[in-house]
Amino acid sequence: MSRILITGAAGFLGSHLCDRFIKEGYSVLGMDNFVTGDPRNLKHLVNHSLFDFIKHDVTKFIDIDGKLDFILHFASPASPIDYLKIPIQTLKVGSLGTHNLLGLARAKKARMLIASTSEVYGDPLVHPQTEDYYGNVNTIGPRGVYDEAKRFQESITMAYHRFHGVETRIVRIFNTYGPRMRLNDGRVIPAFMGQALRGEDLTVFGDGSQTRSFCYIDDQVEGIYRLLLSDYVFPVNIGNPNEISISDFAEEIIKLTNTTQKVVYKDLPFNDPMQRKPDITLAKKLLDWEPKVQRAEGMKRTFDYFKNLSKEDLHRSEHKDFTEYIT
Ligand code: NAD
Ligand code: UDP
Repeated sequence: MSRILITGAAGFLGSHLCDRFIKEGYSVLGMDNFVTGDPRNLKHLVNHSLFDFIKHDVTKFIDIDGKLDFILHFASPASPIDYLKIPIQTLKVGSLGTHNLLGLARAKKARMLIASTSEVYGDPLVHPQTEDYYGNVNTIGPRGVYDEAKRFQESITMAYHRFHGVETRIVRIFNTYGPRMRLNDGRVIPAFMGQALRGEDLTVFGDGSQTRSFCYIDDQVEGIYRLLLSDYVFPVNIGNPNEISISDFAEEIIKLTNTTQKVVYKDLPFNDPMQRKPDITLAKKLLDWEPKVQRAEGMKRTFDYFKNLSKEDLHRSEHKDFTEYIT
């Protein structure tokens, strides 16, 4: 039986990956320090014979008993509001955390896949974004802590591959959504859906002409699964190319949620990318992969999840308090 370590296991993507690999018959070891994740995302797995969990901060030395065949490194704050509140932890998890995990992969002869991001393209001057575009990132801007950590993560991963022969894979994930996102993480989908459910106006940043392309979680997990098992070492975009402006998206959510609230406009955060859409030609060719879940269906499933959360979750203070994690 293959054994896989999944970091960031208590987060949105990580918990869905745990489910998928258990379904495929892998023995899954989850690791997380809960800084932006939630243990409740894993509660259905606690007594599963194929699941084990270690509470650990991956920026500290990692010691694992027994064999490991695969590592998925998904630990990292992922929402702009999260990584702006814990910028140093964000830089450390992408750099020190990735270094520790690559060392572990080397020692165990495991194949390691890292979660990179469309943010390596920054505010892109090429549209749609292809993997050979080097990006347009402001190193010293507020988002630089995330973007540069992820760019470093890609570089050190390629260095371990070239210098030490570690088997590595790099997925560049574009905006992904679905059940188990944290309602108060500040990303646009939980933000708009939370506002609709609380009877608040929907806050569009800037004039709403900036675009994003949203991928449903099941499609993302399928792409990652296929990439891990492929033999391709360079970065691969996984996302849904169906692009929409944020103002049109707010209108879609108003219709879906049936809210009587309206859109209000707030300042655009500094360096907020103006356009984003993956070119997925490579993933189609290499992995025979493309997204299957249309936005209308994915949004409906996601809204059903948020609707069924407790009142306490819905009204939990707007953003998470990270005090205990600041080191
Ligand atoms: P998330 O915040 O839900 O999950 C991240 C998890 O990592 C959390 O459970 C958090 O507690 C854990 N974590 C953070 N720092 C840690 C540390 N030092 N040690 C151990 N655990 C730590 O975010 P997500 O959306 O699930 O994102 C997961 C990964 O995918 C991240 O690496 C993110 O950069 C990447 N990604 C996500 C998206 C997206 O749209 N969701 C897009 C691009 C890239
Ligand atoms: N956004 C918005 N209102 C919100 C939250 C986000 O208009 O309440 C915008 C944000 O400025 C960005 C887009 O929605 O242009 C996507 O933001 P998100 O934080 O989800 O992720 P990003 O793609 O910027 O990393």
